[in-house]
Amino acid sequence: MEEVIIIGTGCAGWTAAIYTARANLAPLVLAGSQPGGQLTTTTEVENFPGFPEGIDGAQLMFNMQQQATRFGARVDFKTVESVTRREDGTFALDTGGATLEAKSVIVATGARARMLGLDGEDEIYGKNGLTTCATCDGAFYRDMPVAVVGGGDSACEEATFLTRFATKVYLIHRRDELRASRIMAERALANEKIEPIWDSGLTAYHPGDDGKMRAIGLKNFKTGEETELEVKGVFIAIGHVPNSGFLGDLVDLDENGYILQNPGRTSTRTPGLFVAGDVADHYYRQAITAAGQGCAAALEAERFLGEA
Ligand code: NAP
Repeated sequence: MEEVIIIGTGCAGWTAAIYTARANLAPLVLAGSQPGGQLTTTTEVENFPGFPEGIDGAQLMFNMQQQATRFGARVDFKTVESVTRREDGTFALDTGGATLEAKSVIVATGARARMLGLDGEDEIYGKNGLTTCATCDGAFYRDMPVAVVGGGDSACEEATFLTRFATKVYLIHRRDELRASRIMAERALANEKIEPIWDSGLTAYHPGDDGKMRAIGLKNFKTGEETELEVKGVFIAIGHVPNSGFLGDLVDLDENGYILQNPGRTSTRTPGLFVAGDVADHYYRQAITAAGQGCAAALEAERFLGEA
């Protein structure tokens, strides 16, 4: 019987691990299918405090892992398929074969960016010109043309942010009307550097000889016309999918699948089950806010175990 099992190894999970390990709880950390979380898919992280020169996303995650294991956290590369709470209040975690037991659980499974699913997406993703985070990667596209795909608040926010660096930002949306809130939509459309391309979607990524993004294929859904557009970077902003489905009725979800925490806390409607990071946060979605929530979840779990 573990004192605490932490599910997920992004910023939230590792920070929870550091804190619970230093509290002598010897946390078991389950890495799941994307060890290191979303930061491992970005390049340089320039906005995590404490690294004035920036730090590679994967390196930052590795550093956090080392910091956690130094204090006694243990890592297992299992993926949790379901969690049940027993009558005595402890948890059983089904990992598709082995069942793990814990007195408390911290869920830090994050969210994955929704992708288009076009050919060659995996190869061009990350360092080669396809990304899902303007805040993380925008500065790498200084003086270059880029495209943002999507019509929601994220797409408008990313497009507006990218105008600080890019020469031109094409905002590609599948309809002729943005879904974004009025203020965000108006701000984006009023920006001279942003050119909307309506009723259109991507048909292909066209890398150059160096494997990096050279152009994209576009199709206008109303006219059927197909064109090619030269861009160095493509930012996909068509929503996120929180990794929350495996918890069943232990938690309440909002309409987009994000886990609802108790107000101002990382606790949930199930005593002993805490939630941190992007699986509960569709608003900030930053490494540092996820880390902060991981810390909060660890402190709450520690308190819960002390009172049990
Ligand atoms: P969203 O509101 O769900 O918008 C997703 C956009 O992507 C929509 O325009 C949608 O098109 C498009 N889309 C979805 N699947 C697609 C596909 N397969 N191919 C092409 N386009 C596709 O997602 P979001 O913009 O990430 O926002 C999520 C939540 O966070 C929202 O509640 C938003 O208000 C909030 N948010 C707030 C802020 C802020 O206030 N600062 C910033 C960012 C996000 P359709 O319009 O045709 O459906």
